[in-house]
Amino acid sequence: MARFANDVIERIKAEVSLVRLAENQGYALVKQGKDFALCCPFHEDKTPSCVITPKSNLFNCFGCGAGGSVIDWVMKTQGISFRHAVELLKNDIGAISSSLAAESPVKKATVPKLPVPVSTDANDHELLRDVVNYYHDTLLQSLEANAYLESRGLNDPELINHFQLGYANRTLGLRLPFKNRKSGC
Ligand SMILES: [Zn+2]
Repeated sequence: MARFANDVIERIKAEVSLVRLAENQGYALVKQGKDFALCCPFHEDKTPSCVITPKSNLFNCFGCGAGGSVIDWVMKTQGISFRHAVELLKNDIGAISSSLAAESPVKKATVPKLPVPVSTDANDHELLRDVVNYYHDTLLQSLEANAYLESRGLNDPELINHFQLGYANRTLGLRLPFKNRKSGC
């Protein structure tokens, strides 16, 4: 059984509003000064005797003595275990964090984006030419490829140029836009 880190539990207690949660559950809250009162869900209550204090994010019932944190509230109102309550409420912290994250600037990719070396709307012939040019350039820039040509006695620039020799090191695929992505994303 996974244990929850203490800071997760502390964050739930501090950040997940008990007032908002009770409202979302459909309880009618009556403002009482800085606090909110409601008919206690945990005993037969005709007058609102359960008080939620937003400042401490705690509840306390003067009728039956029930009280505690937002986690205790969820355990008691839903009839679930501590672990289950934390599991549910943890998502509420996450929801807050991810909405904050969405507002902050998106982390830029660390790999600089290179221009796409072939035009994606070209016809087959143009595409083939683009690919040949791309791998030809790759060959000219690759020490590895040049070493290979030299070892085979083919390192003649004229010959390389004439036959548009290329080095297909599969890097082209890395530079094409993904099919399942919009270009530029
Ligand atoms: Zn009560």
